[in-house]
Amino acid sequence: MKVNDEIELYIEKFTSSAQGIAHHNGQVIFVKDACPKDKVLAKITNIRKNFANAEIIDIIESSPHRVVPFCPMYKHCGACSMQFVDYDYQLELKSQIVKDALYSIGQIDFDVPQTEPSPQIKNYRHKIQYPVSQKKVSKRPIIGYYMPNSHSAVDIKHCPIQPEICDKIIDFIRENAERYDMEGYDEKSHSGLLRHVILRVSNKNSSLLLGLVINSKVITENLRRFADDVMQNFPDIKGVCVNFNTQKTNLILGVETICIKGQDYVEDELCSNIFKIGLDTFFQVNPQTAQNLFGYVKEYIKRNFTSPTVLDAYAGIASIGMCVSDLAKNVTSVELIKASCNKAKDGLELNNIKNLTVINEDTAEFIKNTPEKFDIIITDPPKKGSTAEVLDGFLKCCKKEIIYVSCNPATLARDLRYLINKGCKLKSIKPFDMFCHTNHVETVAIIEV
Ligand code: SAH
Repeated sequence: MKVNDEIELYIEKFTSSAQGIAHHNGQVIFVKDACPKDKVLAKITNIRKNFANAEIIDIIESSPHRVVPFCPMYKHCGACSMQFVDYDYQLELKSQIVKDALYSIGQIDFDVPQTEPSPQIKNYRHKIQYPVSQKKVSKRPIIGYYMPNSHSAVDIKHCPIQPEICDKIIDFIRENAERYDMEGYDEKSHSGLLRHVILRVSNKNSSLLLGLVINSKVITENLRRFADDVMQNFPDIKGVCVNFNTQKTNLILGVETICIKGQDYVEDELCSNIFKIGLDTFFQVNPQTAQNLFGYVKEYIKRNFTSPTVLDAYAGIASIGMCVSDLAKNVTSVELIKASCNKAKDGLELNNIKNLTVINEDTAEFIKNTPEKFDIIITDPPKKGSTAEVLDGFLKCCKKEIIYVSCNPATLARDLRYLINKGCKLKSIKPFDMFCHTNHVETVAIIEV
């Protein structure tokens, strides 16, 4: 087999990066945009030692699970890599992705149930972060996602996975940017003003917070006038914040954010608790699935524990901690980012919760030094998962069970293997569809220590 060979392939499976897997003469081939059960004519694009890559030239027999993507920008955008697969089958594939990760990375052979569907599969995304670049001649902003595997952005006029009003606000910014001297940002020359547009939309009501990330350290009169204008045109926008990011960096947000009009948060609700969501506050992007996931964790605790002590590690604004606080004797929520801790403290007051303590500390430091023991540790780390040091700390401090909420099956599998090697037992696994139409999946693992 060599590059440019055209061969017929049957797609057997799906990878965690949303590619089809086929075999040819014993060789593994990853096929772009292929759906399991497709029979395709594919061209080999790249050959490595243990695998090859290919792209589809023709679909000979279409998988029964192939559908026409509902988004007109599907090919150009790259965010919803599974939109060409019917929704029920997406859920099946996500369970398979978790099962495969557990097996291949963690050497754990475990039955993974069907992924819990998202209550809403369109307009579900409540955080929008569009990079802004500039048109070559007019320097008008291009506002939209990056094209697949590239750093050039496409103007996105309509995105069906976010609340409809977002399209209208983004369009307003595009149309009026020039009037307020908001040139789009040019990465190469590090010039232009507007780097990112962020929208935080409340799932509870239709209110929004608009964020403008700018390549400057000053708020011009024009920016203030723009804020007046956009809020007058969209009364659902409750505040406009500006974040200063003058660094040459891929990080979206700089250190400082100030509110130039209205309030610096929107209120949202999870498990009957109200939260204040700021521009840089972590809040689950799909609040309805988050509600299901938290409800599942809560129900589990209710059935299996009486008044437990709980550690809520990687707590964000302590949304999980608050959700289970009425069942717990007490909850300790540990979070690295001070702004999130402050928002968590606001939440305690808003929801009249008295048995939860917010600690602004690195989980590793906290767990190393705390003399306390907890019946349950709920841990919800970022994609990179935990470290051996943190997991050892959990084992030292956890009396009964660890509830591991993960957004990355690969690091979950690695961490579970570590815990199993230390004598823990995996009791259950449940995936949730937090990010519909993408290849990402959120999983809850319950572990007995
Ligand atoms: N459980 C929360 C947030 C989960 S996201 C929720 O469901 O809303 C992960 C959180 O971990 C983020 O808020 C991030 O700021 C925090 N974090 C990342 N590294 C950390 C560390 N080393 N120690 C404590 N918190 C950390």
